[in-house]
Amino acid sequence: MTKDALKTIRGMRDILPDQSPWWQRMERQLIEILSRYGYCEIRTPILEQTSLFARSIGQETDIVAKEMYSFEDRDGSRLSLRPEGTASVVRSFVEHNLARRQPVNRLYYLGPMFRHERPQKGRYRQFHQMGAELIGSADPAADVEMIDLMVECMEAVGLTGTSLELNSQGCRECRPGYREKLVAYLQERADRLCDDCQRRLSINPLRVLDCKEDTCIQAVEGAPRMIDDLCPACGEHFEAVRSGLETLELDFRLDHRMVRGLDYYDRTTFELKAEGLGAQDAVAGGGHYDGLVAELGGPPVPGVGFASGLDRILLNLLASLPAPEDPPVLFVVTRGDEGWHEALGLMQRLRRAGFKVISDVRRGSMKSQMKRADKDGARFVLMLGESELAEGVVAVKDMAARADAADKQFNVPLEEVQADLAQRLGERAGSGGD
Ligand code: AMP
Repeated sequence: MTKDALKTIRGMRDILPDQSPWWQRMERQLIEILSRYGYCEIRTPILEQTSLFARSIGQETDIVAKEMYSFEDRDGSRLSLRPEGTASVVRSFVEHNLARRQPVNRLYYLGPMFRHERPQKGRYRQFHQMGAELIGSADPAADVEMIDLMVECMEAVGLTGTSLELNSQGCRECRPGYREKLVAYLQERADRLCDDCQRRLSINPLRVLDCKEDTCIQAVEGAPRMIDDLCPACGEHFEAVRSGLETLELDFRLDHRMVRGLDYYDRTTFELKAEGLGAQDAVAGGGHYDGLVAELGGPPVPGVGFASGLDRILLNLLASLPAPEDPPVLFVVTRGDEGWHEALGLMQRLRRAGFKVISDVRRGSMKSQMKRADKDGARFVLMLGESELAEGVVAVKDMAARADAADKQFNVPLEEVQADLAQRLGERAGSGGD
């Protein structure tokens, strides 16, 4: 009886071996940049108490209200798969009192996030983010560093055609006044808003600004802008962020409708968009938060952070970059038990020396092993049969040389194989590719 094969859950994907080298290269490049800016990795659990996200991201946001994977644990506690990284990082920052170790903490994370959204190109229910948080400074310098880091990370992985967008969300002082003005403006146009926005109007009116429905986009066209209503402190802060970005020659565009989907942001918010991704074109985004650390029980210190969507970045890179290079393959072909035993030792020595070495563990005929070597793209095939063993040599076949070349195949004494191949492969031997 054949059984039905099981499949991945809708909106979730396997990353298969033909794609994982792309992921690994991207992650290596990101980590390299993050460490140059002084950021250290923090790994937090994927499961957290549901209340963490409700308190930080906001009960009324789409993420918390509609998109979280939540369930009751065996002891009755409510748990959720993390829908984003900042809340967990701040929870950990508070729990372990990282502020006591140093006044400013630079942290980064990498890993899967979960949101029950409608799947489409570039939008998944399990997706991967790399994010960074800088906790402990209210100075605009922190915001500028974070935006610069975000742009640098995206450039390092090879993303091109990006545009940076900037806005300010004001603060607890100036936002309420703006909110009132916005509500008055929207109420006059309430009949043109979508059902969701009608509801948002009383709960979270700023959200109406970034609704993707055509009628809502038209309705908010001439809406009051937060940056016209900033208090003097927020105005100065925003001005300093802009001047820092200008000094760095980072082009940006003010986007008055950008509010972002999380409630904890104050002051600067930013987003990076990339070409060629269709509707889901935001590859990274973030902002400044003043009250989040205190809200989660920590000291009243501000922070700023960004998160980038690795799945989306990769969609862009797959279309524009060459595949990551693989190190050259040495393929060992053997005949008989004696040849196999000799090969075991040889392969161990070569791998320890940094070479990539493969053999056909099915140990079929030499002919079938040779075929496998060819299919696996071997650069050199090392053959160990009875005659080679008798002579203490390895027969080496250069798979890149022409069939009639004089050095297509040659013997190398066993003890010289490593040095010989290192020389033939030049600097690339054991370099790990790229
Ligand atoms: P956010 O945490 O909503 O600020 O999102 C930060 C980045 O994560 C976005 O710019 C996207 O690149 C990525 N992202 C968010 N949601 C998804 C999703 N459902 N699927 C894939 N990427 C996502």
